[in-house]
Amino acid sequence: AKENGKRTFTVFSPEMNRRVAEYMWLDTNLRKGLEQNQLVVYYQPKVATGTGEVRSVESLVRWDSPERGLIPPMQFISYAEESGLIAPLGRWVLQTAARQAAKWQQQGLNLRVAVNLSPRQLVDDSVVDDLAQVLKENQLSPCTLDFELTESSLIEDENRAHEVIGRLRSLGAQVHLDDFGTGYSSLAQLARIPLDAIKLDKSFVRGVNLAPVSQSLIRAIVATAEALQFRVIAEGVETESENQFLDCVGVDEKQGFLFAQPMLPEELEQWLKAYSPH
Ligand code: C2E
Ligand code: CA
Ligand code: CA
Ligand code: CA
Repeated sequence: AKENGKRTFTVFSPEMNRRVAEYMWLDTNLRKGLEQNQLVVYYQPKVATGTGEVRSVESLVRWDSPERGLIPPMQFISYAEESGLIAPLGRWVLQTAARQAAKWQQQGLNLRVAVNLSPRQLVDDSVVDDLAQVLKENQLSPCTLDFELTESSLIEDENRAHEVIGRLRSLGAQVHLDDFGTGYSSLAQLARIPLDAIKLDKSFVRGVNLAPVSQSLIRAIVATAEALQFRVIAEGVETESENQFLDCVGVDEKQGFLFAQPMLPEELEQWLKAYSPH
């Protein structure tokens, strides 16, 4: 239907109604879900180029709702960010990942575990104390937990973000810039961030075989990262030809359904047993 200038029309649009209802459902249920231990952390391996070894995994949260079943993070993380629930939720993910990393260490599996951080968690710098605490509580070696953050984390207060990143790194954590290429940081900005690696967003990896322009883009991004001395991790690798292209351009680590989906800890352990780096 054409808009006819009546503002009240939008108030009752089905899409608006759906979003309000969804927000209210999350408002009633997500905090309860967190308190009642309904959140679950899955882990997806990263494969090193060349050796094929798996030395690190990414933690990815899901919500096992009694009402709706397994809910992907895209459906509740932004609500958590808006409502402030991201602080306790993010802390819970970090604690869970740390406990899991400690279990793996006891089993002789040395895996670094990366945790995704929301912008809010970087501004409110409690994540530094949280990291120090979980390392201590779980007697983890400092080089076990890493963080993935997005460019939007750097927008609000760049200096503060840099300071927090510096403190996380001084505790032995690596800091990776997630979804790289989808934000708008300038090269000058990028050069100032004290980073260990960038994660090439899956939107670049997709279709790399089809469009020559995607290939040049990836080459340019890898060259930029190399100039800045950041490692490059590619996400969303689904096909062998994408994998081969990424190897050729010098990506350091790869992650995607070609290798494995995000898995529960026991599934990951089984997967690792069966996995042999070619
Ligand atoms: P992300 O950090 O960019 O994570 C990559 C997403 O791509 C994950 O979706 C992963 O399951 C998916 N993926 C992995 N391999 C492939 C592939 O080969 N093809 C395709 N098409 N997708 C692949 P997921 O688990 O649904 O997570 C979505 C987003 O939710 C994450 O994007 C991250 O931004 C956010 N997220 C997840 N866990 C957390 C968390 O604990 N804290 C925060 N703040 N955000 C989280
Ligand atoms: Ca990530
Ligand atoms: Ca991404
Ligand atoms: Ca993301």
